[in-house]
Amino acid sequence: MGALGAGIRRQGGRLVLSSEDETNARATKALSKKPPVLVVGCGVSGLSCGVRLLQDGFPVRLMGAEPPEATTSSVAAAIWYPYQSWPRERVLGWARASLAEFHRLCREETAGVTQVDGVEVFPEPMQSPYWGEAVPEFRPAKPEELPEGRPFGFRFLVPVVEMPLYLPWLQRRFLELGGSLEIARLASMDEALQLADVVVNCAGLGAREFTPDPEMFALRGQVVRVERGAVDRYIIDEHGPDGIAYVVPRSHDVVLGGTNVKGDENLLPDAAESDSIVQRCVALDPRLAKARKLSDAVGLRPGRARVRLEAERPRPDKLVVHDYGHGGAGVTLSWGCADEVLQRVRSGLNGGGV
Ligand SMILES: Cc1cc2nc3c(=O)[nH]c(=O)nc-3n(C[C@H](O)[C@H](O)[C@H](O)COP(=O)(O)OP(=O)(O)OC[C@H]3O[C@@H](n4cnc5c(N)ncnc54)[C@H](O)[C@@H]3O)c2cc1C
Repeated sequence: MGALGAGIRRQGGRLVLSSEDETNARATKALSKKPPVLVVGCGVSGLSCGVRLLQDGFPVRLMGAEPPEATTSSVAAAIWYPYQSWPRERVLGWARASLAEFHRLCREETAGVTQVDGVEVFPEPMQSPYWGEAVPEFRPAKPEELPEGRPFGFRFLVPVVEMPLYLPWLQRRFLELGGSLEIARLASMDEALQLADVVVNCAGLGAREFTPDPEMFALRGQVVRVERGAVDRYIIDEHGPDGIAYVVPRSHDVVLGGTNVKGDENLLPDAAESDSIVQRCVALDPRLAKARKLSDAVGLRPGRARVRLEAERPRPDKLVVHDYGHGGAGVTLSWGCADEVLQRVRSGLNGGGV
């Protein structure tokens, strides 16, 4: 391979990544009787869809304006938790399917997915959330499991998906299966449709301009990374007196959150907000008081009143499957949505309704 390193080359001003075993990848494409699919977006949605399509034998070209490590997905905490994503009945199905896949991935040593124990807390007794039935061993927390000042909560074990490990793992998986990944911005869906007859739209908040879709809105989230120390369980508090707070321990650090501000698109972390996030989280787990701050980050959740997962035929010979608008749960829903995208591509190509 060239000076850019194994599997990376320049093509018409674009960076293209493909498996080191390119002969294999080319052979897979040549043998496949299925039409090539262009997936737009290389966050968690695009990469998961890319993997599922490749596993089913479709040749896949993935194009993203930013590489995986610069997407909103890279900022996610990312705990399995259906947050700010609708409609509930579809979200529950996708979340359930993804949970099963993440349970399986806990056994993959390098994927960065682990089961973490913890609590979601409330100021007063609450009914179980609609998704509680999907989570094994979901139960009311015992008083000794609750932080001070939070009289009620639920305890459950869920996967934490460590994005700095998981996104590179997912990208490797995609490339090993024979996919190719290009870092390039597409001006519009028309441009995408000139490149392929089948397009999967995983552009996240970028779908607002790319699709275009005026129903998309940003939900700004700020987080702070601190040293891991002894913190070993997550805590989620959406109803704290000073705002939402969550503590998500990973292998080498803890992600502290957070904020959720509709319409704010400032990508620069606010220092006062970071201090406030740390204070809110220390109130939940006092062991964080001495934790050294490592960094802060901002991401814009791709908000929409309803996740858009549907197929359309902009022209008789073209098929588009949309998969965007997952709000605060894009990781939580990623595999369930990818499974449905694959089904919709297959059914659209078999002449089924879209
Ligand atoms: C602070 C924070 C914490 C979060 N915590 C969690 C959590 O704990 N659990 C959870 O499930 N979710 C969480 N989320 C939400 C989650 O991050 C998002 O729902 C998810 O990342 C959306 O993934 P995506 O792949 O759809 O979009 P993105 O990750 O935004 O990727 C979109 C891709 O599309 C590309 N793109 C856009 N426009 C174009 C174009 N015109 N041409 C080419 N490419 C284009 C972009 O470059 C990018 O590659 C959190 C988000 C934030 C901000």
